[in-house]
Amino acid sequence: MKAWRDKLKYFLSKFFFVRAMSEEELYERWVRLVRQLEREGIIKSKHIKTAFLKVPRYKFVLDRYKHYAHVDEPLPIPAGQTISAPHMVAIMLEVADLKEGMNVLEIGTGSGWNAALIYELVKRDVYTIERIPELVEFAKRNLEKAGYKDKVHVILGDGTKGFPPKAPYDRIIVTAGAPKVPEPLIEQLKVGGKLIIPVGSYHLWQELYEVIKLDEKGRIKVINHGGVAFVPLIGEHGWRE
Ligand code: SAM
Repeated sequence: MKAWRDKLKYFLSKFFFVRAMSEEELYERWVRLVRQLEREGIIKSKHIKTAFLKVPRYKFVLDRYKHYAHVDEPLPIPAGQTISAPHMVAIMLEVADLKEGMNVLEIGTGSGWNAALIYELVKRDVYTIERIPELVEFAKRNLEKAGYKDKVHVILGDGTKGFPPKAPYDRIIVTAGAPKVPEPLIEQLKVGGKLIIPVGSYHLWQELYEVIKLDEKGRIKVINHGGVAFVPLIGEHGWRE
């Protein structure tokens, strides 16, 4: 019931002035959402709940959307992109099954929020690639303010080519929708490593793939986790601009 009221308020905020909220109020609403995601069985692992509580989404959205960071919907960020809905981020992190010490590459930095959550789960430096310079700056600012400046490394580039200098990776997490699994990402995975990636149409409909690398030859096993909706992954091994 509360969730619907929040969504309605978010919709109305596009047309009406909204009262500013204190940090305490923002955090209180965030905790409420995290508990709701746990009740709904979307957040399953204790360490993912802990990471969500440590890294609230309102620290990674534009000021005018801070009051809606606890609404379980994607929100606009600069350059026409989005910060994903909290339930989607939780689902991908559950599938990724991150453990302390893992070497992780994220593709599609956006706001930097997911990369900060990944850091809290692996407790070691995280590498994240973004193709839009304005978002590289946006993410760096957010990460610095939230205390992740030296922990999350934001790289400007085409993530469909991966990031060879820090390969091989235990996990590669792609937060944009690809037409197919990009070959360089399989090459840069360790044997037994996993690539989490939405694969499907250009807009609005993909399927979330968990791709496990089986051997050095690059043979893979794909587990399909069902329908998702992401902005397109644009690049040499993704969609053409
Ligand atoms: N993970 C982000 C967060 O926590 O805010 C949300 C990511 S947003 C849904 C997808 C991002 O992927 C966009 O910022 C988009 O510019 C980026 N993107 C698309 N194609 C890319 C590519 N080839 N390399 C790197 N980033 C890409």
